[in-house]
Amino acid sequence: MLPAYCACAYGPRVADDEVVACETGGVRKGTGLLIVAGLCALGIGAAAPASGAREQKPKIVYLTFDDGPNGANDPRLLRVLRGQRVQATFFLLGQSVAADPGSVQRLYMRGHAIGNHSYTHADMTHLSADGMAHEIAATQRLLSPLGGKCFRPPYGAVNGTVSGAVAAQGMKMVMWSVDPEDWAHQDTGYIVNHVLTHVRDRSVVLMHDGGGNRAATVSAVKALIPQLRARGYEFRTVPSCRVPLRGKATGLAQPPAPAPTPTPTVTPTTSASPSSGVVTP
Ligand SMILES: [Zn+2]
Repeated sequence: MLPAYCACAYGPRVADDEVVACETGGVRKGTGLLIVAGLCALGIGAAAPASGAREQKPKIVYLTFDDGPNGANDPRLLRVLRGQRVQATFFLLGQSVAADPGSVQRLYMRGHAIGNHSYTHADMTHLSADGMAHEIAATQRLLSPLGGKCFRPPYGAVNGTVSGAVAAQGMKMVMWSVDPEDWAHQDTGYIVNHVLTHVRDRSVVLMHDGGGNRAATVSAVKALIPQLRARGYEFRTVPSCRVPLRGKATGLAQPPAPAPTPTPTVTPTTSASPSSGVVTP
């Protein structure tokens, strides 16, 4: 059975175009488990936002959705996003992809970015090293080649071992900075107000398309997009989750060629640079 939500408090900072995410403090709801203070997953070329030039540059916001694919919620959400020409980032569960393999292609062909949210929505900190590796790798095989090399831990639960397991598979950890807790507040007005109150340039907004009825989330997204645009925000997908469409210029988008063979065992293909994994202070 899938947990109904990913629950973490938001941190006040996050991502620029090459910085995947930064979580300055997370508390797992329900257990009060302090996860990690000051987690930062940095991408190549990470740099602090240039506050002096902010007026001249468009502000960026990343909409992200966890716990899908979901056959009940996704059609409405995708219609809203398509109608407003917005691409988002979806963190998918391997077991849900296995039940609906076409979901990855549907998201990808609409220009959305796809990330890995584990296979069973497990709390990774409770797993063995082999268990962690399996949750990540089994899901990644289902997402490949359309999914990016990015991982969002269920519940935001991470420790050094989880971070190492993610980095060992050449992937980046992606957290968030704005959490309207849409799984708990199934109230469109609350979700909209929370996001508008907390959003800032390069915020990563956490919402959910899986785990239950997300009608309020979908309605909130529909209301939020024009309001964020009116405040000068542009919508982007998380860089490490993107896999570029081929043939986009011709309008005949084609997915990239499949990987030659799936990797049967967990074998790091790239060594983790100091800026490619979670930095735990
Ligand atoms: Zn989740």
